[in-house]
Amino acid sequence: MPTSRSTALQLFQSRPKMQRERENRKISSYYAQNVFTTDKLKSYLSNEAFKVYSQTIAEGKKISRELADQIAAALKAWAMENGTTHYTHWFQPLTGTTAEKHDSFFTLSGNGTPVEKFDGDALVQQEPDASSFPSGGLRATFEARGYTAWDPMSPAFIMDIAGSKTLCIPTVFISYTGDALDHKAPLIRSLEALDKAATGVARYFDRFVNKVSATLGWEQEYFLIDKAMYYARPDLMASGRTVFGRGPAKGQQLEDHYFGAIPERVFAYMVDLEMECHKLGIPVRTRHNEVAPSQFELAPMFEEANIAVDHNSLLMDLMDRVARRHNLIVLFHEKPFAGINGSGKHNNWSMGTDTGTNLLGPGKTPRNNLQFLTFFVNTIKAVHDHSDLLRAAIAAESNDYRLGANEAPPAIISVFIGEYLTKVLEAIESRVENDLAEDAENDLKLDIHKMIPDVMMDNTDRNRTSPFAFTGNKFEFRAVGSSANCADAMMVLNTIVANQLNDFKSKVDKHIADGEKKDSAILKELRACIKSSKNILFEGDNYSDAWAKEAAKRGLPNIKTTPQALDALVSKKALSLFDSLNIMSKREQEARHEIYLEKYIKKVDIEASLINELVFNQILPACLRAQTDLMTNIKTAIEAGVPKTQMKTQQQLLTTVSTHISEVYSILEKLNSEREKAHQKKTTREVAIYLCDKVKPLFLDIRSHVDDLELYVEDKYWPLPKYREILFHR
Ligand code: ADP
Ligand code: MG
Repeated sequence: MPTSRSTALQLFQSRPKMQRERENRKISSYYAQNVFTTDKLKSYLSNEAFKVYSQTIAEGKKISRELADQIAAALKAWAMENGTTHYTHWFQPLTGTTAEKHDSFFTLSGNGTPVEKFDGDALVQQEPDASSFPSGGLRATFEARGYTAWDPMSPAFIMDIAGSKTLCIPTVFISYTGDALDHKAPLIRSLEALDKAATGVARYFDRFVNKVSATLGWEQEYFLIDKAMYYARPDLMASGRTVFGRGPAKGQQLEDHYFGAIPERVFAYMVDLEMECHKLGIPVRTRHNEVAPSQFELAPMFEEANIAVDHNSLLMDLMDRVARRHNLIVLFHEKPFAGINGSGKHNNWSMGTDTGTNLLGPGKTPRNNLQFLTFFVNTIKAVHDHSDLLRAAIAAESNDYRLGANEAPPAIISVFIGEYLTKVLEAIESRVENDLAEDAENDLKLDIHKMIPDVMMDNTDRNRTSPFAFTGNKFEFRAVGSSANCADAMMVLNTIVANQLNDFKSKVDKHIADGEKKDSAILKELRACIKSSKNILFEGDNYSDAWAKEAAKRGLPNIKTTPQALDALVSKKALSLFDSLNIMSKREQEARHEIYLEKYIKKVDIEASLINELVFNQILPACLRAQTDLMTNIKTAIEAGVPKTQMKTQQQLLTTVSTHISEVYSILEKLNSEREKAHQKKTTREVAIYLCDKVKPLFLDIRSHVDDLELYVEDKYWPLPKYREILFHR
């Protein structure tokens, strides 16, 4: 329920201090207490059943109905012992949030006796009423059949909301025909593809490797503001960002917020949140202020990517819920405040083997280092060949305000590897010749070893402006938006690297079949990769105009807006790539393209309506009052005999205010007519592009006048909480 600015300020000032009960228990004593971990499963299953389960999971096989029944019984027993009454299939549809449909364990048996029931069927598959989730045409609405299917790789957990406990079962969401309708299904398929491809290559170095998992450690940035301010800003409520608002006199120029003391109220929230996270097995560790005022960051220890994605989605839910308890609101939008740093979600990514090796970690022996270089160089090559897909994976209406807007990071995808590794790659490129002699090969391997220190972390001087940076033992994809589900970015990265590793392996195998020694075949192929992908490497300042020019010369794409960036999803190259690795069929990929375009259109439309509403309901009335005050002032002064020549300031002010008012109105008219034109376009893509090119720029035009009016109109008339009130109040 919206409040006015003055009520919001009053509410804010009268907030009682949030009291927290002191919690002195060790984190380890309650960590994952609400998660059905493998250990718990073990204690609830028979030895026999657990053995079958472990084997099935290790081999990546499908869980039989019989075993599912046993697991369901175990889950139910655990959940009911913990006071749970309902269960839900928890999934991540393409709307961008999580979804759930609750059912109770309670039912009536045939003869009418009340019982609690939960069997394998209920665990394995459900049919939520799915007609309202986006499907991009994959599932005709009349059919309305989407299914949630249990993901046994991600553990079930208990959510405790408002004193009621629900068992949540992580699931994928698919259509009747098996097409992916969510973020998770393609992610899981990409993880399988990467596992297969990377295991094949890792076995060149260690024949005991049986599985490779992608690892993900996200860093979640967010703004935290008072709830009352939020409810007094209809724009924040409807679109997650402020469409108007003049920068405060004190912005982030002083950069005194970063690593400053965390305000007490925020601290109380963080402590509360972390405890909830820990109970749910989300291993959050670091908390600190970010660059902008009222901006913060939360990061966990990294985990297997599928689980890390679930944990990030769960975290975002928790953050929202816990914040409200503290009369705070979390803003996940990438750019809630103009002129103030935006928020991202760095995705730290690597690959780990079941033998405990981080494949992007430099090793202690020449052999390990060759392995490191192999995965390192192949990742660079994959990014080089498919940078357009990575760009598409992070494209969103809200992220457009951040990418390419002269702040971290740019829309041009490039890779930063640091001075050291640049030299190593140069050395390999210049020294490996086609007919590499065995001695030369050994020399080079030793040289490489000498060049690569065990711990690289401190040697990669961290270039904060790069969208894709190597940071010691992992790549950090920094262009992912703070509000995004990490799954899309991770799915693309896994897919392109899997594809590249497959290609690499088939070439190396061919050299070996032709009689070449393994290491020299590997070095030869690495050299080819380095040569053909060095274009994507960039060590300088990614925000500079010079880089934009240089990148253009190199032929690197610089796509600043979402509708265009999304084209890459349905390029011939992408369609065949995703299809060949069984990640997504052409149909699924096209549906996704359509859904993302529709989402873009909806977002722009919402903001356009919102701007209309704010202008007519709030901004203009305030400005007209100010205008009337000025006119009355001038009129009475002149009537009282003040010479006109002494009324210049008032006249000038009146003209300024009146001019801005009329400008606002005329731009708004244009905005509305352009918007109508947009919707007359034939295809979704054309509508999106028209809105992007012709309507969105008008948002900024209107804003510049409204923000000036905020300066000229008397403070007491101004209806919306100002930036200084939203951002600097503690
Ligand atoms: P930054 O300097 O970018 O803020 P942090 O140390 O805060 O870096 O974050 C690093 C993140 O990278 C953490 O979430 C951490 O868990 C993650 N990380 C570390 N090693 C790996 C790895 N092998 N795979 C994936 N993520 C990793
Ligand atoms: Mg980071």
